[in-house]
Amino acid sequence: MPIENIRERIARAESDAGRRIGATRIVAVSKLQPRERIEAALKRGHRLFGENRVQEAAGKWPEFMERYTDAELHLVGPLQTNKARQAMDMFQAIHSVDRIRLARRMASLAQELGRCPELFAQVNTGEEPQKAGIAPLEADGFIEELRSLDLPLNGLMCIPPLDEEPALHFGLLAAIAKRNGLKYLSMGMSGDFETAVRLGATHVRIGTSIFGERGA
Ligand SMILES: *Cc1c(COP(=O)(O)O)cnc(C)c1O
Repeated sequence: MPIENIRERIARAESDAGRRIGATRIVAVSKLQPRERIEAALKRGHRLFGENRVQEAAGKWPEFMERYTDAELHLVGPLQTNKARQAMDMFQAIHSVDRIRLARRMASLAQELGRCPELFAQVNTGEEPQKAGIAPLEADGFIEELRSLDLPLNGLMCIPPLDEEPALHFGLLAAIAKRNGLKYLSMGMSGDFETAVRLGATHVRIGTSIFGERGA
């Protein structure tokens, strides 16, 4: 679906919820997509993209970044501590800060590099054992720790369980962000982004609805 149609559907959801039109940013998740599709989105003027693996992003994005110098790349997938430096060099935002060891490593790199991408803490709202993220009850403490490390934490991210009503999870994430004074909410994917926008998403992460099915 052309990105313009997604933009329209988001605008309708923003309007339904009494939010400002254009308040939600579309992170076009380009993982496992052929280069031509990414190029096509860039040519249509889209500039914000997401990848879920550092290695994969390193293989394809430097070339795009050279040609589209105003493009912005966000990491939406899990980050290994030993890839933190590479990720901090390549991404303008990281949506998946999910443990204190990683946060400490990023804080020391931020000191060394003199800069740090914008950070989102990932919350495992469904408390699923196979999923990354801080448990909801531990989120306030985790946020406090990140702040004490002087990290630029500005938002929260979640991926709701597949078989549950996503609105409950988006509402929970919004509540945690609100009581902690965090301004960004990274929530909503191809199947549920309108619900996320109604509940206050500032960043929706959309892959297949924009680019089509992913390759292997
Ligand atoms: C792949 C991915 C998305 C996009 O998923 P779609 O269902 O294709 O829109 C969003 N967020 C994360 C973390 C992902 O890994």
